[in-house]
Amino acid sequence: LAEYDVVVVGAGAGGISVASSLLARDSSLSVAIVDPADIHYYQPGWTFVGAGIFKPSTTAKTMASLIPRGADWVKAAVAAFDPARNAVILEGCRVLRYTRLVVAAGIKLDWDAIEGLPETLGRNGVTSNYRFDLASYTWQLVQELQGGRALFTQPPMPIKCAGAPQKALYLSADYWRRQGRLANIDVQFYNAGAVLFGVPEYVPALMKYVERYNAGLNFNHKLVRIDGDRRTAWFEQTDADGNPSEVATEFDMIHVVPPQTAPDFIRVSPLADGAGWVDVDQNTLRHKQFDNIWALGDVMNAPNAKTAAAARMQAPIVANNLLADMGRSKGVAHYNGYGSCPLTVERGKIVLAEFGYGGKLLPSMPTWLLDGRKPTRAAWFLKERLLPPIYWKAMLRGREWLATPVIGEK
Ligand code: FAD
Repeated sequence: LAEYDVVVVGAGAGGISVASSLLARDSSLSVAIVDPADIHYYQPGWTFVGAGIFKPSTTAKTMASLIPRGADWVKAAVAAFDPARNAVILEGCRVLRYTRLVVAAGIKLDWDAIEGLPETLGRNGVTSNYRFDLASYTWQLVQELQGGRALFTQPPMPIKCAGAPQKALYLSADYWRRQGRLANIDVQFYNAGAVLFGVPEYVPALMKYVERYNAGLNFNHKLVRIDGDRRTAWFEQTDADGNPSEVATEFDMIHVVPPQTAPDFIRVSPLADGAGWVDVDQNTLRHKQFDNIWALGDVMNAPNAKTAAAARMQAPIVANNLLADMGRSKGVAHYNGYGSCPLTVERGKIVLAEFGYGGKLLPSMPTWLLDGRKPTRAAWFLKERLLPPIYWKAMLRGREWLATPVIGEK
């Protein structure tokens, strides 16, 4: 029966970062990271893979190469939590005990929730940048399409990187425009939600691109069924009175973003809120009921944008607050809800949305250098050249570039 000072569940963006941050602050801690995956993905790079800008291989590294020195990697899936006994139960019924627990297990992509989708994904013009192996199929389809109809879908919130569904649209349409094919391609956005982007300050800049690409906007349309062989998609449409009806649309290619939920083993656990997410205080990221448990990343219920950028800010806050609880750090740090979504509106330009709780704009650069509400080359440079090394070399290694936690309320 193993016991650790800290057990971290999930070795994705949040899990590796928080383990590194903890060990960077106190190398004497015994830390275990539990994750069954062989490969760790830099998912923010998949939008660029889908547009032929990044090679798929640049977005993946072996998990073994990323586990921080001083941490034990327990290569297994967590099946259940037993917070009363300070234990997690691994698949195969092994038990791992902890003094403090951090949960960073990410979000579940629910491909099965769309009837007919799993059977046709990766064939018949059906693709998604939300899977490593399919992002390059997006780029293949975009290059091949000479004319016809291209659909881009967005499921109900919450989803990780809520801008990613429209990023795929903009970069594809930009390519067709540059190739002189756009006039022959009917580009349509089908969004289960009612707005183009949740923070209104960014919408005017995005609308200019919607107009440039002559893209149709279909709000309150939720993808429910797809028939790849017949190249037809069905959407549930809700009218102003909330009455649903079904509409069918034929396509030549469709980029699908799957519905997303809390992972099953989290949803059924004592850690979850009514909707299935780990129930934390949105300022301290500490569990509301179990005070030796913290959570970060996509898996928890703080109302921030679910992004790697958010996890980058959260990791040092969780590390600090956990150590404060052990009496090894001076005070409690507060998270302001920062998240970021680089909206790739055309090749070479990005509208860089950066905001916190309540949609408050939280730009990390002065406006004269980079105004996130406008498409800029500076933001593209940041996304293409700076953010990948910041992710691999700083964030995952516990170097807190632009993410030093502030003690006390912000
Ligand atoms: P993840 O990084 O997904 O890691 C979760 C880990 O938990 C995985 O390693 C998994 O194997 C593990 N796990 C799952 N179940 C178990 C279990 N039972 N036991 C143990 N371990 C388990 N973010 C940005 O900041 N900017 C962007 O531009 C951006 N673009 C995106 C584009 C796309 C197409 C996608 C898909 C995502 C994008 N994101 C972006 C979002 C970002 O990738 C996520 O928000 C981030 O990875 C969340 O980190 P996480 O640690 O919560 O989850």
